[in-house]
Amino acid sequence: MEQTVCLKENFEQVRKNIRRACERSGRSYDSVTLIAVSKFKPVSMIQEAIECGQNVFGENRVQELCEKMEVLGEDISWHMIGHLQQNKVKYIVGKVKRIHSVDSVALAEQISKEAVKKGVTVSILLEVNVAEEESKFGFSLEETEAAVRKIAVLPGIHICGLMTIAPFVENPEENRVYFKKLYQLSVDINGKNIDNVDMSELSMGMTGDYEVAIEEGATMVRVGTGLFGSR
Ligand SMILES: *Cc1c(COP(=O)(O)O)cnc(C)c1O
Repeated sequence: MEQTVCLKENFEQVRKNIRRACERSGRSYDSVTLIAVSKFKPVSMIQEAIECGQNVFGENRVQELCEKMEVLGEDISWHMIGHLQQNKVKYIVGKVKRIHSVDSVALAEQISKEAVKKGVTVSILLEVNVAEEESKFGFSLEETEAAVRKIAVLPGIHICGLMTIAPFVENPEENRVYFKKLYQLSVDINGKNIDNVDMSELSMGMTGDYEVAIEEGATMVRVGTGLFGSR
């Protein structure tokens, strides 16, 4: 269905909301990166978003990501945020800024292998299924530290934080508990001083709940619908 979306207004609104959430929680506006999730949206819309000053975009499918990257170039900071199949790793290693959705040790091993082959280091986040939803990928809270330890020793990989996709809820307050848990886990893991691991990034919060996520420590929010309209 066609809909008119005023991107400029949406960006202004979302940035304002981010600023306010930062103020409420005593954080600086710079401490939060807005990732504009452009999946299913045409290149023309991304170009319009670039004109609104945005240059960080998130995609969840490799093929779509590569097609858009080819047209729009690599000046844009691309983030892979969706479930990644091992056989597709080779298409994005060395091209994306970060992979948020590392949900198994085997996938990390594949990324490592490809990174070594290309002579690059890949920044990754481990996806944690904090709410233990069956439909979602990711490590459980309990298994995350062990996974971090296994992945941290792989060459060509740098773990820079954790990511979660919270449940779809009407009231964002319901997700606060999950954001708190992910924050606490990242503090706990950071305290273990594991080599090659820094827990500086927390990728959490989407259109429905990014303000709550920021209040709980998100450093990257992934907003799609709130910017580009419904899919
Ligand atoms: C689609 C998607 C988003 C954005 O969702 P909205 O609710 O449209 O903001 C964020 N993160 C992931 C992993 C996604 O797949």
